[in-house]
Amino acid sequence: MPLLAGRKGMCALELATPRNKDNCCTIGSPAIAGLSSFPKWSQSAVLAGDLILPINYAMNMTITNNSVVSFHYTLNDADGKLLDTSAGREAFAYIQGQSMIVPGLERQLEGKKAGDSLLAVVPAAEGYGELDPSLVHKVPKDRFGGQNVEMGMQFQAGSEEGGQMGVFTVIGVEDDVIALNGNHPLAGVTLHFNVEVINVREATKEELAHGHVHGEGGHQH
Ligand SMILES: [Zn+2]
Repeated sequence: MPLLAGRKGMCALELATPRNKDNCCTIGSPAIAGLSSFPKWSQSAVLAGDLILPINYAMNMTITNNSVVSFHYTLNDADGKLLDTSAGREAFAYIQGQSMIVPGLERQLEGKKAGDSLLAVVPAAEGYGELDPSLVHKVPKDRFGGQNVEMGMQFQAGSEEGGQMGVFTVIGVEDDVIALNGNHPLAGVTLHFNVEVINVREATKEELAHGHVHGEGGHQH
């Protein structure tokens, strides 16, 4: 097979799925699907074999609506304080255009492709929102039913009618009054994302219907 000139008899599928050698070079086998999460070295294999050019196309696919994107990221605030990172975990996967990540990051990822790195600075308004002072409340301590209330603790609060009002963080403790902040902990924060795009592919019909990613970095059902 002329799939991999210069790689001494190994074919692309064998390289990509070493535990599935029976299917090596069998176009249409499940092994081909395994190439969608290609390692970088498979690029030369792809370029060498016209049979699998559609995969080469997928590698250069840019992020647009309904792309399934996986990426690694580190999130810092403007002072460089680490807020979150995907390091040591699976790459994070989402569907572009479905508001699954903060709008400012989604917008800055548009048009990027696998292998791209970027620093995306996202103002609070395009991140977790500006601080809303009306979500800061002072509540009598007896409303907590004798619990020991400390700074930084979080409480799920409900309205009298039983509706959810969200999560509140304790930002002040006085003798008989507790100050609660119902803003997202990252509200008002300018987000600095260092992003490396790992993979870009089209979402399947099933993923679009379910509204989430299947497989690596997503749902396993
Ligand atoms: Zn699903």
